[in-house]
Amino acid sequence: MTRMLIVGPAGSGKGTQSKRISEDLGIVAISTGDIFRVNIKEATELGREAQGYVDAGDLVPDSVTNRMVEDRLTWEDAKNGFLLDGYPRNRTQVSALDEMLSRLDVSLDVVLELTADREELIQRLKKRAEIEGREDDADEDAIRRRLEIFASETAPMIAEYDARGLVRRVDGLGAVDEVNARIMEALKP
Ligand code: AMP
Repeated sequence: MTRMLIVGPAGSGKGTQSKRISEDLGIVAISTGDIFRVNIKEATELGREAQGYVDAGDLVPDSVTNRMVEDRLTWEDAKNGFLLDGYPRNRTQVSALDEMLSRLDVSLDVVLELTADREELIQRLKKRAEIEGREDDADEDAIRRRLEIFASETAPMIAEYDARGLVRRVDGLGAVDEVNARIMEALKP
């Protein structure tokens, strides 16, 4: 059983790799970005609350996001391990997650960080905008904003997990299979 996070900037391949890891390890992948996108599409109350932030590339307020994750982690399918993709994104969310996990009486095993350089990320996001039609990938301001927030809020958050000795870093550059093989190697005990 594994409880893990996957972190990395927009375009680093987190979503693609987390689906693979989820299959390989038999744990559920929970992507906060996917949950927001589904809710926006279905125009739920949560979707209406999140839409403006997601479109602009800003973080959805912590109170909304934390509540949503806390609920999701209590589902039956998360009892045997999980992979959180895109959460936490800042220090406030780290504290919230610490509290949630302690209430569930479980702890994190590993934080997988996918790295990629800025030019590569921008190229990938442009390509994804064409393939998946994600509006936040097609909008240059939103792309810039997401990469800025990663640098200012998410990178310092990763440092906190690094200090706890949980981070394994993997180069996200290359073909999906290649990166997957690197990840599986890095996840070996
Ligand atoms: P992602 O699919 O992870 O790139 O997320 C897409 C968008 O969803 C982000 O730009 C944010 O607007 C929102 N989002 C996803 N995860 C979070 C989070 N942990 N906290 C706040 N906003 C989030």
